[in-house]
Amino acid sequence: MIELSAIHKSFRQGMQQVPVLKGIDVDIARGEFMAIMGPSGSGKSTLMNILGCLDTFDQGRYRLDGQAIESLDPESLAGIRNRTFGFVFQLFNLIPKLSAVRNVELPMVYAHVPRIERRERAREALAAVGLAQRIDHAPSELSGGQQQRVAIARAIVNDPQVIIADEPTGSLDSASGTEIMAIFHRLHDQGKTLIMVTHDAEIAGHASRILRLRDGRIEEDRRS
Ligand code: ADP
Ligand code: MG
Repeated sequence: MIELSAIHKSFRQGMQQVPVLKGIDVDIARGEFMAIMGPSGSGKSTLMNILGCLDTFDQGRYRLDGQAIESLDPESLAGIRNRTFGFVFQLFNLIPKLSAVRNVELPMVYAHVPRIERRERAREALAAVGLAQRIDHAPSELSGGQQQRVAIARAIVNDPQVIIADEPTGSLDSASGTEIMAIFHRLHDQGKTLIMVTHDAEIAGHASRILRLRDGRIEEDRRS
């Protein structure tokens, strides 16, 4: 489903272009559960942002279901991104002033889903992550693990094929991290493709494939 070949990406720092990805080749099949590991600064988040069509690249090719991503205009790219991917971040990225259910409704607001259907689907998504009793709570009234579950509900509410999670357990204690992994396993069993960055070898052990980056290159690509 995802085919990256010879992806290069650099960032400008002052007068210099600093290379961050130096030729990434990776194919990811539908239904895979992949962890991306590697030292801080090795390019993991940059790669995730490219995979999720949140960022562009300088050289190389990206085929998503056969579609050439580099040739799309920003509007088509945004359309593909919103239909294909759900995103989960380390710091949850919830809107503090909105209740859990309204946070989960947001992606459907952008997708022009009618209000009643929005509420219905947001409730279902929150129930799927075990938060049916917390839908009216603000993020500040929820634990870190619960906030991340709201973020997962928001990521899955438009039924994306792929979930992209950048250090989803990085701010959580290990019990909450284990709960998040249980949810990811369930989503994987339902056919979702999961791509997750983690520093934690135990968390990475939940995946069936581990990609290891070092200094902008793939150091290891291992399936279990
Ligand atoms: P990781 O997620 O593996 O820690 P990142 O992909 O976030 O690594 O960053 C890799 C390198 O790219 C780092 O040196 C970082 O400073 C640099 N970088 C990332 N994003 C930007 C940006 N938007 N502008 C400039 N430099 C960036
Ligand atoms: Mg990162």
